[in-house]
Amino acid sequence: MSNKFLYGTAAASVLLAIASLVFSPSSAQNAKQSNDTAAVVEAANWADNVMITVDTDAKTFRFQSNGIPDHGFAEQYLIPSNPSDQPFADKPLEFFDVENSTDYFKETEVDATITTQPVYSDNSTDTSLGRIGVALSGAQIFNDYENPARSVVAVDDQVVHDHVAFLDNCNGHTLVDGTNYHYHGIPVCIAEAAAQAGQHSRMIGVLADGFPVYGNNDVGGIVVVNDDLDKCSGHFGPTPEFLEGIYHYHLTADEAPYMIDCYHGEVEVAANNGPGGGGGGPKFCRSCRATGHH
Ligand SMILES: [Zn+2]
Ligand SMILES: [Zn+2]
Repeated sequence: MSNKFLYGTAAASVLLAIASLVFSPSSAQNAKQSNDTAAVVEAANWADNVMITVDTDAKTFRFQSNGIPDHGFAEQYLIPSNPSDQPFADKPLEFFDVENSTDYFKETEVDATITTQPVYSDNSTDTSLGRIGVALSGAQIFNDYENPARSVVAVDDQVVHDHVAFLDNCNGHTLVDGTNYHYHGIPVCIAEAAAQAGQHSRMIGVLADGFPVYGNNDVGGIVVVNDDLDKCSGHFGPTPEFLEGIYHYHLTADEAPYMIDCYHGEVEVAANNGPGGGGGGPKFCRSCRATGHH
């Protein structure tokens, strides 16, 4: 908790348009929406440790933070002594190191540039390990998994010994080296602080494809579950920030996937793929097999 305040051609186009009307009605529908998120991103309730720079020419925004969430965190965390020995839920206390977050947490330079004109795609792209989005708190959004094989879901692999947990009450933790605090479930510390009873969740962050991310309340405050959403945990509809409607993601609490396991927006993934990707973001979770990125 003491770290909390550290920082503060015209014919062809017509043909394409006709083709898209015939073959991809959802894209055509979405094309009518402006999908310009710049104003919402600029006005969002980012934590004090976050710097947002909107580039109106490039149609992007840049997110910079020290990686430490502004909502505080647990005093202690369970750190697996052998990160490759998953799952952890059945491991005894002796398997873990108990670390004090005040000693253990390390600042991380988080620097992400994301489009402010997201484009819905009929094709989806799997999210990778490492950062898939940014949150209002200054921390990062990861997908569900703790391993490249996508077999171990972090939230379902929660383990608690003597009141010390692997994931904290905000569904977050760091990598094994204390850096890159990130969420594997609804960041309830953000979502609950922003929630308004009987209403759609407020935006809690933005995914790397530029579409906004929400908690699990839809219009009228109704709790959404995975069955209500597409395979990437998204749908079209109005939100408090986008009253005309936009494609958006909902994090859920009923069962995996809790997070966003694929992008339904166009996204450049080449730089983010594989252990040698060099995309600048973290590639591996604390508990992922050691591959030189921990
Ligand atoms: Zn919704
Ligand atoms: Zn993790």
